[in-house]
Amino acid sequence: MGDRLKDKVAVITGGASGMGRATALRFLDEGAKVVIADMNAESGAETEALAAERGTADGLRFQRCDVTLEADVAGVVGLAVEAFGRLDVMYNNAGVGGAIGPVTEITVDDWDYTFHVLVRGVFLGVKHATRQMQQQGGGGSIVNTASIAGLGGGAGPSAYSGAKAAVVNLTRAFAPELSHDRIRINAIAPGAIQTPLLKMGRRPERAVARAESRTPWPRIGEGEDIAAAALYLASDESEFMTGQVMVLDGGALAQGPDFWGHDPESPFLQKSGVNRGNTGEEGEIRDYRRDGS
Ligand code: NAD
Repeated sequence: MGDRLKDKVAVITGGASGMGRATALRFLDEGAKVVIADMNAESGAETEALAAERGTADGLRFQRCDVTLEADVAGVVGLAVEAFGRLDVMYNNAGVGGAIGPVTEITVDDWDYTFHVLVRGVFLGVKHATRQMQQQGGGGSIVNTASIAGLGGGAGPSAYSGAKAAVVNLTRAFAPELSHDRIRINAIAPGAIQTPLLKMGRRPERAVARAESRTPWPRIGEGEDIAAAALYLASDESEFMTGQVMVLDGGALAQGPDFWGHDPESPFLQKSGVNRGNTGEEGEIRDYRRDGS
């Protein structure tokens, strides 16, 4: 329990599950009032029950909402104002895996669905949060969930990757425009996070094992890791930060192609010394064992 978001009102789309739920509970613990806007009323009710166990349910409202529909998004912003008097934080986080499979098999409907949820949903959240924040004055913080899939290929299905890249660049493109009103906008780009979405496929244990094998950190992420970043971006502590993408991926992007290997058993990490290239000067390479053997 803390007061880093005392007196702040937040809307969290996709807040009924996964990292959105973890963020909603964390924001409540930090003194915020929260409206969860999500398609799934059942997970919404579960989240309300979790807040009740922590004694924070008074500050929480659930509203069924489809972020692809403008009236729904305007409606949840309206509910925040009606129930709690204002809007300080808009976290556009709702998401789905979207269209999967080879490009030759992707239907236009599945492609459009992916972009509607992941991009139109963010646009509508930014639009209606900004209207409210401008009207009330005093600024605000908008946070969008992107993904490391939006920063390159190979971390998600192609349509998802394209849509998340749009979220990354919309975040940057909106930032200067909104600065005038002291509205900040930043994105979080998670790597592999243990949420129901990561385990949606037919072989969830395989998806998790694969994610673990591609993440240098000794574990993959939890919703709480993302909640901590969202808390920083939502709070006044990040007042000078806007138009940025915060990557939380346990080193997955930093690892890149991993030619060098990252675990202590990698052959490259069992040598030390210096390679002087083709200078004609002798290098000196010694065997090295971390355990001294
Ligand atoms: P999750 O499935 O646990 O939660 C997503 C929530 O979004 C669900 O409750 C779902 O009902 C809701 N939602 C989906 N479509 C909606 C719509 N049209 N309107 C309103 N709500 C809708 O998944 P999560 O992993 O917590 O995902 C949250 C965000 O993080 C998503 O944007 C996802 O793309 C992104 N992300 C996830 C990972 C990961 O590894 N889990 C990695 C990178 C990015």
